[in-house]
Amino acid sequence: MEPTTFQWIALFGITAAVINGIGIYAIHRYREYAEKAKTYLMCFAAGILITVPLTLALPKAIGKAPRAGFVALGGFLFMYLSNQLVKKYTEGKDAAFGVTAAEGIGIHSFIDGIVYTVTFQASVLIGILAGLGMVIHEFAEGVITYLVLTKGGISKRTSILYSFLIAGLTTPIGAFIVYPLVSTIKDTTLGLMLGFASGVLLYVSSSHLLPEAREHEEEHSSIALLAGVGLALMIVLLKSS
Ligand SMILES: [Zn+2]
Repeated sequence: MEPTTFQWIALFGITAAVINGIGIYAIHRYREYAEKAKTYLMCFAAGILITVPLTLALPKAIGKAPRAGFVALGGFLFMYLSNQLVKKYTEGKDAAFGVTAAEGIGIHSFIDGIVYTVTFQASVLIGILAGLGMVIHEFAEGVITYLVLTKGGISKRTSILYSFLIAGLTTPIGAFIVYPLVSTIKDTTLGLMLGFASGVLLYVSSSHLLPEAREHEEEHSSIALLAGVGLALMIVLLKSS
């Protein structure tokens, strides 16, 4: 029996939170290993997440709603601006920065959740592909959130809990909250929302994951990126032809 759209969304939303939790645990317990893994996973996820909107999600969105490209731009800028909050405060060293950074991450993770719902509502193929990249990037998100909070002077134990609340749980919450809305909207509106999701995916891959990974340049990060692109392209070409 084929899973329903809601079952897919629930599966990916909950897996996202679990992988996020694994990232938090890994950076807490096995710091060196987790930081290495994070770089590769970010590049691999970036490869998938740049391919999906460019070859599949955005063309489909524009097919449903010709103005979806404008909304994609809006999605990109929204993510850019909300993440400026995180950047601004992670570079400073004042005690309050952890809180504001956490707000930015919370918004980001909530929007991540919406992306799962919108992409699965548009098509199972787009949902699975975007979801695969998104779930992998959750590991890095858990690691980053934990590091931001501990750098902000919050104790390690408390940071584990807060990271999971802020970056982990917000994702399935975002997915479930918009589900009743998204499941009943018109096709044109869904096209616009898919445009927004495409903008978010472009942001996450090109402006969030890649620069962050490049900062800790590891020998094989380009290979990881191309592997992600290759895997996504292969699935896109096999499944959508
Ligand atoms: Zn994210």
